[in-house]
Amino acid sequence: MNILFVASEAHPLIKTGGLADVAGSLPLALRALGHDIRLILPGYASILEQMDGLQTVATLSLPVTTAPVTLLRGNFPGSELPMYLVDSPEYFARPGNPYVDTDGNDWPDNALRFALFGRAVTSLSMGTVDPDWQPDLVHCNDWQSGLVPALLSQHPKRPASVFTIHNLAYQGLFSWNKFSELALPESFWSADSMEFYDQFSFIKGGLIHADYLTTVSPTYASEILRPEFSCGLDGLLQHRSTDLTGILNGVDYQVWSPDTDSLINSQYEATSPQNKAPNKAALQQMFGLPVRDDVLLLGHIGRLVEQKGVDLIIDAADDILAQDIQLVTLGTGNAALQSRLQKLSAQYPRQVGTHIGYNEPLAHQIEAGADAFLMPSRFEPCGLNQLYSLRYGTLPIVTHTGGLADSVVDASDDAMADGRATGFVMPHADVTSLSARVTAAAELFQQRPKSWKSMMRTAMQQDFGWDRSARAYEALYRKAVTA
Ligand code: ADP
Repeated sequence: MNILFVASEAHPLIKTGGLADVAGSLPLALRALGHDIRLILPGYASILEQMDGLQTVATLSLPVTTAPVTLLRGNFPGSELPMYLVDSPEYFARPGNPYVDTDGNDWPDNALRFALFGRAVTSLSMGTVDPDWQPDLVHCNDWQSGLVPALLSQHPKRPASVFTIHNLAYQGLFSWNKFSELALPESFWSADSMEFYDQFSFIKGGLIHADYLTTVSPTYASEILRPEFSCGLDGLLQHRSTDLTGILNGVDYQVWSPDTDSLINSQYEATSPQNKAPNKAALQQMFGLPVRDDVLLLGHIGRLVEQKGVDLIIDAADDILAQDIQLVTLGTGNAALQSRLQKLSAQYPRQVGTHIGYNEPLAHQIEAGADAFLMPSRFEPCGLNQLYSLRYGTLPIVTHTGGLADSVVDASDDAMADGRATGFVMPHADVTSLSARVTAAAELFQQRPKSWKSMMRTAMQQDFGWDRSARAYEALYRKAVTA
């Protein structure tokens, strides 16, 4: 099949979260299955700087903007995967993040930027731009590409479309004024299209108009049919539930594997777990903590937002740190959470280390150096860090929600006896559950080291590679194309 994979970020070119890891690895797994899959991204300045040998495919003339828009083509780094970039310096040549300025505020013209991107993607999809290629199927991801299925629906003869929800909490909502600047069909401003409680919703373009919907874990696929998780979209999702499936994200083990990871202090594998120890010492040193092997070292990495439950870690800290436990955190986001974390490390200098910022090498070192990994998320569509943690033998402590529930087996007596346990699962995202599961982890670590090691081995042997998930997408694409 000819497949166009549409995303607003892809690792290693540009990344703010899990979508980038998926967009940088799923297309490669599908290509390995023999498909002509191509990736399309906005041509952010930082991507253009990293790319050599880009060729111009076409100059596009799009409504709304008189600014030049050019479709460029090259190969995704380190691969033969063809990649298109929508180059429009007026919209995409900016410092900082794809979505926010250097102060963390949304770019005021985000609606225009991603409408322009969506229009360019639609032109390529309809075969009017690249004379040599047209997709049979367009796979869109998150609100930034939500306009594409809506625009495609205007064409009677069009490629099939799939829309993947990576996080329903980000919907791309804009005022009527912004909508009116986009020169879209008036019919898009209606409840059965993209209007949502008097706002224009990019994500609804995908949810209403794509042929099939997916989300990134089976549990999240059922959770979002309920009001607690649906951010107001449960009615619509229930209506589309026969077209909605959950496919767990995979891990790119070329990037995240402790036996080959060049970003960590000492490489190791399931058969040589003792080689993990130098990573712990290095991590303790980096954060100025006492270098001790016998203390339980907890790690946390993530965007500092309410979803991830960092506030629960802070609220449970007095309880947790009354035990022989150290904690290192890496994250950026909400200013109040940043300062609370910094305060915590000032209060417990021998037990807590905090790094505020985005730091890919440090993320790898935390995965390798910590004994256990905290992910007390309130909801988690898939979550990747718990999957990385499993491979690094860093036992995840997670909430029973979304992809966390689908990937971590709690250290219950039964699961321990059967050798299936891979982590510690909190029944609820609250301080009591977090404190209790951390205490259980500390007891196991300190009092039953053999059981801990055997759990590490089980965790490291889990296979969450892309193969199975890529085949699930392939089967869905076939259904969509032949429908
Ligand atoms: P989300 O997409 O909701 O942010 P995921 O767990 O799916 O969460 O993916 C997050 C990805 O971003 C992981 O690869 C994680 O290591 C990375 N990440 C998040 N915050 C940071 C940070 N401050 N520094 C380095 N990597 C980070």
